[in-house]
Amino acid sequence: MKDRDQTSRRQFIAGSAAVATAALASTEASAQTDEFVIDPPDVISMEVVGSDRRFPVRRVFCLGRNYRAHAFESGDNPDVNPPFFFIKPRDAVVDYREGTPYPQGTKALRYEGEMVVALKSGGTDIDPADALDHVFGYGVGIDWTRQDLQQEAQRLSRPWAISKSFDKSAPCGPLYPVETHGHAVTGRIWLSVNGQIRQDSDLSAQIWSVPEGIAILSRHYELAAGDIIMTGTPEGIGLVEKGDVLEVGIEGLGEIEVVVT
Ligand code: MN
Repeated sequence: MKDRDQTSRRQFIAGSAAVATAALASTEASAQTDEFVIDPPDVISMEVVGSDRRFPVRRVFCLGRNYRAHAFESGDNPDVNPPFFFIKPRDAVVDYREGTPYPQGTKALRYEGEMVVALKSGGTDIDPADALDHVFGYGVGIDWTRQDLQQEAQRLSRPWAISKSFDKSAPCGPLYPVETHGHAVTGRIWLSVNGQIRQDSDLSAQIWSVPEGIAILSRHYELAAGDIIMTGTPEGIGLVEKGDVLEVGIEGLGEIEVVVT
């Protein structure tokens, strides 16, 4: 449908010679034009292991400083300050195979290897004991950060959005459904750059476990199917350059390779 729309737009731009062809546009496309004043945005979705159907993404919540050693390396004290949330736009999520174009507006691109939790249902004030019932599956992702912009935001007590919520800032691997692969509660999480291990921890080191994270988030938002949560990064964060090749893996959830281009 989209291809046809783009074709008819090109034909429109090309001029009146295209009118006859444009008249052949499908009724579906015409209905769409009637309903919306511009083309609606694409559905953003994630690959699902063992299925040719995809998981549509609604919102992207992210946990900050959810591993003790990473909180300390960030100059924070996890015994005083609990983890916290921020968000990325849904179209920050891209297939890891696309790689990461070095983003505009920064000279300090930082990797954070993370586990991604995808929800199949939601609600408010979810009991931690019921929280895992809402999980569709788990995967591996990177929370890219424009570190120089983050440091400036921190210095000026400004929001983090511009440092975290940029285009293609969350390359992700496929989701492993609970139905076929169970829950990811413990297991090694690691990240390498050009073959050298930089992050190496275990999911069990998370300060807020997955059920706790879902429960706490649901006190602030009405969670819903399609929401995903990036669950924070362990210690060992660092910067990358164009041409670097990253691998991120979580025991039981596979590995992804992301190239910075
Ligand atoms: Mn992060």
